[in-house]
Amino acid sequence: MNRTILVIEDETDILTLLRHYLKQEHFEVVTAQNGYDGLTQARAIHPDLILLDLMLPGLDGLSVNRSLKKDPLTAGIPVVILTAKGDETDRIIGLELGADDYIVKPFNPKELLARVKAILRRLEQEPPAGGERYKAGPIEVDVSRHEVRAGDHLLDLTAKEFSLLLTLVRNAGHVLDRETLLDLVWGSEYEGTDRTVDVHIRRLRKKLGDFQDRIVTVKQIGYKFSDAESA
Ligand code: CA
Repeated sequence: MNRTILVIEDETDILTLLRHYLKQEHFEVVTAQNGYDGLTQARAIHPDLILLDLMLPGLDGLSVNRSLKKDPLTAGIPVVILTAKGDETDRIIGLELGADDYIVKPFNPKELLARVKAILRRLEQEPPAGGERYKAGPIEVDVSRHEVRAGDHLLDLTAKEFSLLLTLVRNAGHVLDRETLLDLVWGSEYEGTDRTVDVHIRRLRKKLGDFQDRIVTVKQIGYKFSDAESA
C-alpha cells in the first residue's frame, strides 16, 4: 500500500514541485492550500506524514501543528515543517511544538525526500503489536500501544519524544552521547545538531514532571536514563 503524504502549502509552485517529486517516489499526495483545509484533510484521511508550510493564509503553520498535536486522532502523524526564513527562532518554535523535523526553503527536493523516507522508515521499524514493553524506574513504555506511563500518568508525547524516551529507557543506566541519540532517534541521514537533542530533552523533561530528574545530563557527553531507585 502506498504511503500518503499531506502537503499543506499555499505557494502553487512549491506545491507542484513537491507533488511531482513525491509522486515519482510512489507516494500518494493530498494537498491543501490553507491551514483550515489542511487540518480537515489531516483528520479525514489520516496521512502517513504531513509536510507543513509555516506561512499560510488564515491559520498559520504553527497553529495547524498545535491543533494536530492536540487531537489524539492526528497527534501521532509525523509533521515536517517547511520554513521560508531559515530563522533559528522558527525552527526552535517548531520543535518545541512537536514537529518531527523541519526543512528550510529553498530546499533540495532530494534532501527533503531522504528526510521523509527516513521518518517513515523509523516508524516502520517500530515493531507492530507484540506487547513489547520497557520499564525503568517509574517509567513504562508500551511500544505496541505507543503509550508511556510515568507513575500513574499517561504522557502525551509526540512521535519524536516517544522515540527519544524509548531509546533512553531501553538503554537505562548507560550514557548515550548526542550523536548516538541523533542517529538512533532521527536517523543517520539527518543532519541535526546537539541543540536538536537538547531541545527535545528539555521538552521531554517538562512532560515527565516529577520524574524529570530521571533523565540525567552527563556533562560534555550526553544523557542517560537513571533506573536507580535513589534517583
Ligand atoms: Ca507559504
